[in-house]
Amino acid sequence: MNFINGDFVATGNWFENRTPTSNMVIGQVAEAGKAEVDAAVAAARAALKGPWGSMPLARRIELLEALVAEINNRFDEFLEAECADTGKPKSLASHIDIPRGAVNFKVFADIVKNVPTEFFEMATPDGMFCINYGYRTPVGVVGVICPWNLPFLLMTWKVGPALACGNAVVVKPSEETPRTATLLGEVMNKVGIPKGVYNVVHGFGPNSAGEFLTSHPGVDALTFTGETRTGEIIMKAAANGSRPVSLEMGGKNAAIVFADCDFDAAIEGTLRSAFANCGQVCLGTERVYVERQIFDKFVAAMKVGAENLKLGAPDDPATNMGPLISKEHQNKVLSYCKLAIEEGATVVTGGCVPDMPGELKDGCWVQPTIWTGLPETARVIKEEIFGPCCHIAPFDTEEEVLEKANDNKYGLATAIWTNNVSRAHRVAQKMEVGIAWVNSWFLRDLRTPFGGAKQSGIGREGGVHSLEFYTELKNVCIKLQA
Ligand code: NAD
Repeated sequence: MNFINGDFVATGNWFENRTPTSNMVIGQVAEAGKAEVDAAVAAARAALKGPWGSMPLARRIELLEALVAEINNRFDEFLEAECADTGKPKSLASHIDIPRGAVNFKVFADIVKNVPTEFFEMATPDGMFCINYGYRTPVGVVGVICPWNLPFLLMTWKVGPALACGNAVVVKPSEETPRTATLLGEVMNKVGIPKGVYNVVHGFGPNSAGEFLTSHPGVDALTFTGETRTGEIIMKAAANGSRPVSLEMGGKNAAIVFADCDFDAAIEGTLRSAFANCGQVCLGTERVYVERQIFDKFVAAMKVGAENLKLGAPDDPATNMGPLISKEHQNKVLSYCKLAIEEGATVVTGGCVPDMPGELKDGCWVQPTIWTGLPETARVIKEEIFGPCCHIAPFDTEEEVLEKANDNKYGLATAIWTNNVSRAHRVAQKMEVGIAWVNSWFLRDLRTPFGGAKQSGIGREGGVHSLEFYTELKNVCIKLQA
């Protein structure tokens, strides 16, 4: 159900919610139309004029801390909801999605509490001076458009700083993953976040809740995570009314493995970055470049690692890989498996739908897949697949690998594996990306800037960078008299 002004709101239109492990229908979701989006935006505007807008920062922070505590009290419900929607293993969601999703509220409450603004003093012609200080106010009503791959974590990554900065939000979760955003509505009410501060409208993109929200003139800023082509549509919508956007979009990330690396760490990290969350991580690796001396050994070890992954249901503690999000996405990934062969790939492992037992057999499964042998011009090398697959290619020089790794329209992340400190810095600095990991992957300190270069994003969130987006920074200039 939609969550508008503190109430759960049904509509006349329902759409199916399926669980990807079996593709069975597990619920019906009320699609928001224009009327519900209007009501949600109006509720958010009213909240800014009401108690939320005048609430002292200290009280706002207390409420956000209570929110974290209550999410943790209901941890198992959030876990259940997230795993039902996404099919991801509970072992993964219980370490990443839910705890990191909850902590987003705490981290940004701390940042807002602790980050000062600037102060300048300037002499004036009359022999006196003026003082200037920065003063932050909320940007207003923020529209938050979310993807399905880490639904709760990526939603609170935006709602956390937005609320900490005093804004009100209207969230549009992905149509594939409606549950945790709705559940969070119950928690908001329980801890006493005023009505209208957090609203959720469900539905699709075009001609549905997504478009109605992004084109709504009552929305002051838009923050989005999803595909680049959707981001471009949202950016156009935001141009009406000159509204700011923060866009976190697609990637085709390269890992670079030098022969002097810690081999086992590089294998462990690359397996995770290629196959975690069934490859549905924007920061994940789809292109692996390995220095020629260790290429064969590396491919062989990746094959063993991929084939050891256990695909299964979220509840099974042995499961370390779930399904893709939907039949549609499964078909997309399988079309790339077919294309890879047409483009001349050698299939090292995978490439097919695995045999799954019982009700899992109708789920959205794809085997962990590794290819070699494709030319750099292949579509499989250029386009984001967003599935459990990667291509591994050899390289001979640092210059050559930088050229290849950067030859892509995306620029989100990279992972560099080397024990040569100077090379690590050199390569990290030359990679055209928003985040460069050295000897690691997916390590996130939330105080650091996060975002994409090139067509992977516009703007940075994280730490003080989130404050740049979620607040208006005003200069107050005071002339002192003699
Ligand atoms: P998507 O672009 O299909 O959908 C994202 C959201 O946008 C959904 O809520 C969808 O309903 C909505 N939407 C779609 N069309 C719209 C329109 N015309 N107007 C308004 N809203 C619209 O993305 P997805 O398939 O949910 O997520 C996967 C993509 O997200 C991948 O490309 C991945 O790389 C990217 N991603 C990026 C990051 C990052 O931080 N850069 C993080 C996670 C995922």
